[in-house]
Amino acid sequence: MADAPVLLGMELPDTDVWSERVTVALGQNPGAFTGPGTNTYLIGRGVKRLLLDPGEGRAAYLPVLEAALERAECEGIEAIVLTHAHPDHIGGVRSVRERFGRVPVFKFLHAECDAGYEDLDLQPLADGERIETTGATLRGLHTPGHARDHLCFVLEEERALFSGDNVLGVGTTVIPLGSGDLGAYMASLERLLAEAPRCIYPAHGPKIEDGVGKLREYIAHRNQREAQVRAELERGPRDAMGIVRVLYEAYPATLHPVAAQSVCQHLLKLEREGRVRCDGKDPLEATWRATTEA
Ligand SMILES: [Zn+2]
Repeated sequence: MADAPVLLGMELPDTDVWSERVTVALGQNPGAFTGPGTNTYLIGRGVKRLLLDPGEGRAAYLPVLEAALERAECEGIEAIVLTHAHPDHIGGVRSVRERFGRVPVFKFLHAECDAGYEDLDLQPLADGERIETTGATLRGLHTPGHARDHLCFVLEEERALFSGDNVLGVGTTVIPLGSGDLGAYMASLERLLAEAPRCIYPAHGPKIEDGVGKLREYIAHRNQREAQVRAELERGPRDAMGIVRVLYEAYPATLHPVAAQSVCQHLLKLEREGRVRCDGKDPLEATWRATTEA
């Protein structure tokens, strides 16, 4: 899920081969928050492959997945692996299993995130744990922030990164108010940077050729926003929309509510760090002020 609408209008082919181990099949679920749709990945070099994130469950996806299997010159799916339980990632599990058999499904288990998917019999994949198939090894990295159950995966043979929704091919990641956590997200980005990935295979948008460069860009972007939010409060107390109207002046007003969520995430992070405070409970409604530095 991405900040609208930078991903709108971008088109990617239904299937593509991004490396000798990675074939991508588009989830057929384009939209404001999914861009061209979810990238679903066939991974490995064997007769059966891992399927990372089977998309949302659109009927048009299964023929595309079949075409991708043919293109990858393989015959089926060994297991499904999930980055997280948002509907555009987990929603396709049932229909893929109906077509390809009841293959195991691995993810980082989280009672709250997994609610409603009890019938999937999800198998645990812990932080640091590996899942192997012929020709490919994925190492899971618990990287919360966008979602509490989020896993990224290092493809060890390529030192490449499957970034899920943490890093996107274009635009920036939404950190939802409530379930998201910007502080955790920033820590996750640093952790991904420490892996020094060569390239990134994102959940939405095209392949990212310079993994380290993109991670640095993402970290710099958030740090810059944080500095802008803090600077705005130094000019006087105001609410989140007051900050949005200044920082997002160049963007259409229809985007301001989404931007307000992002600004609130920065405010909540700064509040936890003792650098701003708030006079109310609802971060969107409250008046925020900078704390005087000692
Ligand atoms: Zn997501």
